[in-house]
Amino acid sequence: MSAPKSKGEEEPSDANIPDNYVSYTLKHQKALDPISWDNWWQELNLLHAAILGLTPIMGIIGAFVVRLRWETAVWSVVYYFMTGLGITAGYHRLWAHRSYNASKPLQFLLCILGAGAVQGSIRWWARGHRAHHRYTDTDLDPYNAHKGLLWSHIGWMLFKPRRKPGVADISDLAKNEVVRWQHRHYLFLVFGMGYIFPMVVAGLGWGDWKGGYVYASLLRLCFVHHSTFCVNSLAHYLGDAPFDDKHTPRDHLITALCTIGEGYHNFHHQFPMDYRNAIKWYQYDPTKWTIWFTSKLGLSSHLKVFPENEVRKGQLTMQLKRLREIQEKLNWPSDNSHLPVISWESFLQQAQSRPLICIAGFIHDVDDFLDQHPGGRHLLTKYIGRDATTAFFGGVYDHSNAAHNLLSMKRVGVLLGGAPHGLEDKAIPPSQRLRIAHYNEMGGSGYSSAALSDSEGLLG
Ligand SMILES: [Zn+2]
Ligand SMILES: [Zn+2]
Repeated sequence: MSAPKSKGEEEPSDANIPDNYVSYTLKHQKALDPISWDNWWQELNLLHAAILGLTPIMGIIGAFVVRLRWETAVWSVVYYFMTGLGITAGYHRLWAHRSYNASKPLQFLLCILGAGAVQGSIRWWARGHRAHHRYTDTDLDPYNAHKGLLWSHIGWMLFKPRRKPGVADISDLAKNEVVRWQHRHYLFLVFGMGYIFPMVVAGLGWGDWKGGYVYASLLRLCFVHHSTFCVNSLAHYLGDAPFDDKHTPRDHLITALCTIGEGYHNFHHQFPMDYRNAIKWYQYDPTKWTIWFTSKLGLSSHLKVFPENEVRKGQLTMQLKRLREIQEKLNWPSDNSHLPVISWESFLQQAQSRPLICIAGFIHDVDDFLDQHPGGRHLLTKYIGRDATTAFFGGVYDHSNAAHNLLSMKRVGVLLGGAPHGLEDKAIPPSQRLRIAHYNEMGGSGYSSAALSDSEGLLG
């Protein structure tokens, strides 16, 4: 039963979607034809193409005509970071992911600076981004990385979307006063903060109106655009996956440097509500540092951090996966089930014609090792047709783990009746005592035995 709704409250847009929403929508909702050389000019999103195309063209032409003054250069870099943080700390981590709470003054500041990055309103941006996280790498993800680097970087904005992004609820943002205010005054804010304000600062500050417009407005905007776009392209392409490799997001320092710290994207997709992207102090994440700093100033609170224990589980899983790959590339000794079972009498008989030695319940053929034995050939020949378990494990020489590992590769049979009691650990070579096994390769499964004992408890 749903709680009674107060007046004006919007129902979440995903409240009534069917259980098979993703597969059903992908199958039944018709997508527009892919972009090709024949149709691209009809499929352009003219507004986006104009903003994304004209800004760099005008900026580059301007740079040839207007000299760059150092004050303007510094201001352009500063304003790049300010507007960039409006997106990363504001649009992304605050509004799209709710990774912390921000006070009204901080929200207004972030929403105004974010508008200066000219990337659409918070509502539009967060709606698309939530769909990106929810349907990563599918066609319901507006910047699906599987459609190529160029598409996820800029293509998805230059052209009309091929299909509607998957449903993602933004009813929380629809209720947010600051978000609504920005949406209402969006055009005014975009022109003001994207193009006019950076020029006015340079003009009134040190008389460089033209330089302010070319460098702090146009070229700075171009850098902010492509910096943010790299989160959708480069961060799904370059680097490794230390937390999970189910999807395309990757971690890389270069992406972090390009995106004001959004480059630890593998972590981010696993733990999107965490206010951090980088979890180590030395990793480059100025967005995290900024959010942390605002909390110290009392401007933000409730900075969300995913439980460390669960983060480490993800890391361990990936490490085990890599170790398993190494394990699978090595050759391992045959185990009992693949070896012929040989009686003691048969062992004695066969040892007449080939050098067989019994150690810890296994029969070993040491033919190719007789001349390589560091202790000399005579110590091996002495034990042919005998049980050398005691001698091998310290009686004559306490062999190294490496020697035990090598010995196990020479197994040709298993003694009928197996190893005498108490020798179990000697039967397993050191390299196999700790190994990585898939769940279904393990003897018993914790889940089913627990379920079983529980049902037995209930029934019995
Ligand atoms: Zn992503
Ligand atoms: Zn995100």
